[in-house]
Amino acid sequence: MTEDSSSIPDRPADDAEAAALEAGRLLFSQDCRFLVSVADVRQLPAFALTEVAFAGRSNVGKSSLLNALTGRKALARTSNTPGRTRLLNFFDLGGRLILVDLPGYGYARASKRDVARWTALTRDYLRGRAQLRRVCLLVDSRHGLKTSDRQVMDELDTAAVSYQVVLTKTDKIKPGPLARMVAETAEALDKRPAAHPDCLVTSSQSGAGIAELRAALAALAEPPAAQ
Ligand code: GDP
Repeated sequence: MTEDSSSIPDRPADDAEAAALEAGRLLFSQDCRFLVSVADVRQLPAFALTEVAFAGRSNVGKSSLLNALTGRKALARTSNTPGRTRLLNFFDLGGRLILVDLPGYGYARASKRDVARWTALTRDYLRGRAQLRRVCLLVDSRHGLKTSDRQVMDELDTAAVSYQVVLTKTDKIKPGPLARMVAETAEALDKRPAAHPDCLVTSSQSGAGIAELRAALAALAEPPAAQ
């Protein structure tokens, strides 16, 4: 009897992937609560939980992605409240993970003083935070890595903070150019010591990649409390 092994599903891998997606869904179905905004890392309380930060150029789609991940408009709205956009904003996700919304960078009209302030605040946080396990570095899939992204990657490599590139707005780019962008980005990441080798491909509009990003973050969270 012959059997075409290529048609047999790889059960353990499928099961593991399904379990990871379910863990992500469960984590992000929890309550997401605003904790604190800080302008100075010395004001930061020592939270007992792991932190995951979100960084990217202004307009990259960070607020939309945070809304899509948490299913709550309030989260990014809190971060975008006037006066808070230049601060580090902390959110508690179900008592299992802290999400940190970093200020956007690379805004063309930002003054030198604003850029210096972003750099000082974010650098202090990125270099000095033992609980920080991962930075999601958001990059617009139509534009790819810009000089300012590469500068942030240099900071992260120097600080040995693990980061993963998350391509955004992929509903706005055709499959061919998207595949080329993914390959080009992976090639740039290959040479970087603290970078996760693959990038995630997302769209807040279509929901593509959101479940996978939730699953990646759930792997870093505290396990759920025993029932
Ligand atoms: P932020 O400055 O990084 O927080 O970016 P926003 O989330 O405010 O998004 C900037 C602009 O991009 C807004 O006009 C959004 O509607 C748009 N946008 C964000 N994410 C997506 C997406 O996945 N697809 C599309 N088509 N537009 C998006």
